[in-house]
Order: sequence, then C-alpha cells, then structure tokens
Amino acid sequence: MTVVTRFPPSPTGRLHIGSARTALFNWLYARHHGGRMALRIEDTDRKRSTQEAIDAILDGLTWLGLDWDGDIVFQTRNAERHAAVAKELIDAGKAYHCYCTPEELKEMRESARAAGRPALYDRRWRDRDPADAPAGVDPVVRIKMPQCGKTTIPDLVQGDVTIANEQLDDFILLRADGTPTYMLSVVVDDHDMGITHIIRGDDHLNNAFRQLHLFRAMDWPVPAFGHIPLIHGADGQKLSKRHGALGVEEYRAMGFLPEAMRNYLLRLGWSHGDEEIISTEQAVAWFDLDRVGRSPARFDLAKLESLNAHYLKESSNTRLVEMIVPLIETTHDVSIDDNGRTRLARGMEGLKPRAKTLLDLAQNAAFYVIRPRFPLENAKAAKLLKEPAIAILADTAAALSAAVSWKSDDIESVLRAFGEEHDLGLGKVAQPLRAALTGSNASPSLFEVMEILGPEETIARIRAVPGVLPNS
Ligand code: GLU
Repeated sequence: MTVVTRFPPSPTGRLHIGSARTALFNWLYARHHGGRMALRIEDTDRKRSTQEAIDAILDGLTWLGLDWDGDIVFQTRNAERHAAVAKELIDAGKAYHCYCTPEELKEMRESARAAGRPALYDRRWRDRDPADAPAGVDPVVRIKMPQCGKTTIPDLVQGDVTIANEQLDDFILLRADGTPTYMLSVVVDDHDMGITHIIRGDDHLNNAFRQLHLFRAMDWPVPAFGHIPLIHGADGQKLSKRHGALGVEEYRAMGFLPEAMRNYLLRLGWSHGDEEIISTEQAVAWFDLDRVGRSPARFDLAKLESLNAHYLKESSNTRLVEMIVPLIETTHDVSIDDNGRTRLARGMEGLKPRAKTLLDLAQNAAFYVIRPRFPLENAKAAKLLKEPAIAILADTAAALSAAVSWKSDDIESVLRAFGEEHDLGLGKVAQPLRAALTGSNASPSLFEVMEILGPEETIARIRAVPGVLPNS
C-alpha cells in the first residue's frame, strides 16, 4: 500500500505554527514511507475563507520547504459530489431527512440539559414516515449512527481510544440549503483522494469517531488515524495569541531560518533519543508516529533561537548575504552594490557565530556597508571616543597609512608596535578604533574587520570621527 497523507487547512488565517507542525508530520510520514502528501484547501466556510489566507498558507509551506504531491484540491469544488454521497446514503437507508425547526432543536437541547443528559439530537425523524414531512420546510440530511455498542479507534499516536456509541448523535450531512457539512466533505474527499493516513491535531479526535461511521456507512476503507497532542505555551496553557507570534510568517519575519523552524517543529512532540539537531534528511529516515508523545509539547522560544543560531553558523556566507542584504537595504534605505556584498560575505565568518536570528545578523553586519554616524547612538561606543582617544585615533590613522600590508596579522603587528611606541595597552588603541569603524563597542576581531574594510575605508572612517584632523 502506498501511503497517502493529507494536509487540509481551512483558509481563514495564516499558517499557524500548530498547523505547520501538522503539515510537517504528514510530509515526513509520507516521505518516510515513500508515499505522497496531498494538499486540500478546506474552503467550505465561504464567509471566513479568503484568497489572502490561501496565499499565506501556500507561502508558509513553500518557505518551510514542505511540498505537496498532485494538484491542490479545493473542497468547495466537490460540493456536488458530497451532496450525491448524502443522497446515496438516503437511498441505502443509512441517512434520512430531518424536518426539525430551530425552535424544536432548542427545546430538545434545553430539556436534555435539564434532565442531565448530553444535548444530542433525539433522532425523532430517524424512523418517522417521510409522509409526515411538514409542507414548506427544507429538511437537513442526518446520518444514522449506531445507537448502542462501542467504537474503538486504533489511533497511531493515542493507542486504542474507545467511546460508547450513545455519545454519537445522528449528525448532519447536508444542511437545509443543500450544502454539505464539514464532516461529510472531509470524509468524501479523504476517500476520493485515496488518503490512507489522517494525521492531525487531537482536537479532531471526537470528529474521527463520527467520520469512521461515515466511512463504514459507505463501505469505504477507513484510513488510519494519528492524533497529535496540541502545542501549549511555555506556561502549559493552550497556545494562543497572548503567547506571542503564532503565524509561521511572523517567525520568518523575526529572522528564523526555515530549517531551524523545521527542526524545532519536529522536536515539538516527537523525539529520537536525545537528538536535538536533526537534519531534514535524517528526519525523513527516522520519522514515524510511534515516537510522537501523548502529552502536549510546550513552545519554547529560547530553544528555537538556539537551533536557529546553530543553522546560521552552518549556512553558507553567500546565502546569508542574500538574506540580510534586503534587510539592511530596507532598514537603512540604501542600495548595496557588489563591493558591499563582497565585504558582507567576507564578514560573515566573524559575524555568524554571534547571531541568533537573521535580524541580529543584519544589524551586526550593517557597519560593513554603512559608515557610522557621529555622534554614535550606542552610548558605550560614544564614550570610547572621548579624549584622549581622539588624539590616539589621529596618530593611529597616521601609523596605519604607513602599513605596507593589509592582512589582519600585519595590521595587528602595526597596532601593537604603535601601542608600545606610545606606551599604550592594546585596548586603549583598539577600543576607540572599534567604535570609529563599527559604531559599536562589540564586533568581530578588529583586525579582521579592518582587513575586510580595506585601508582606504578604514582610514576614511577614522578621519570622519569629529576632532580627528582630516589630514592626520
Ligand atoms: N480543516 C481542518 C482544520 O484546519 C482540518 C480537518 C482535518 O484534518 O480533518 O482544522
């Protein structure tokens, strides 16, 4: 059997990280078993579904590197087929028309509640003669569910889950206006798309019992189910807006790399021994549902940051430059030329071990292409440019102008010799220089920075510090 999984988002908002994890698990499961993953847009809620949300979901999946197989299925386009299945069930005596008015249903709910019974539909039209149908009322179509016994789902994550069939009501398949319900559409589409495995959040476990009976009513093979525990916030509560960013798009904007996000989402609820850093290839080789935990995973931003720092370090310099150039250009309203890109690429070795996100990296790298502006905004750096540093800087510029080689080791020798000659420790020479060249009090190795900036730019930056004579 070829495994076919599916990712069926409702396009009512962005790609939530919980959904992204569901997509990842479906993708990994399919890839691990040499199968396919289908993508279905569940756009039956016409009022809340938007093209913008569809685009955001597709963008999010693409960014995460989660591709799907075959054409995207749009659920609303199958509405006629869904309705036809409901009719088939009526003809087979497995579904029926129900003519209850909203008032009757309300009354039913209230009396059930008063009697302490679950507020389920009381099946009053199940065996009634259709000749009793009131005139002028459009009926809904309900499925006949078993009235006694038990249903067990051998869930691939939760194990066997059993409920008493009394808890399942004759739910609606077609609304009075003839439109199919979510429950009907999902089952028909899952069948028609040949889905073999339904992997999704455990908030759908209750639906699974209803869906299973619908598959059985149609004599269709029932797919395997795997219900993954939801993601909780660091405080153990269900993840919600107050826990911060929820859309994958927002993590992207915060400067996380897709592979870090993938690794992080993978580890949210799934484990393989103590492995923390797991490449996608490795994940495809290892992934299965038996290692998905049964309790909710907690979202931990610090962990995501540390994975991101790892993947930043592993990234090629050219890729990082491609990603940070637009960030620097927008923040500083500049256009970075090839010369600037080369400097940034050379600077990456020293910068990438210090960054947690692309935003950090862009911010820390900007000095390679943007000259510091005086007075410096960074207070600690500004303090480094107070007298007597100015006089020292002026002399340093003169010493550097005479340097014969501009390799970092040689620059270091020049500065050390300069310090000794003027009876100054290296710090006294280096710190003001760092402030002048980078605008900051912290940077990668100063000699490396100077080598990359080149002699002209280095000396021009020193001379731009107010108080340093332009011809020093
Ligand atoms: N469209 C549903 C959702 O976004 C998924 C339904 C399913 O997985 O069966 O929650």
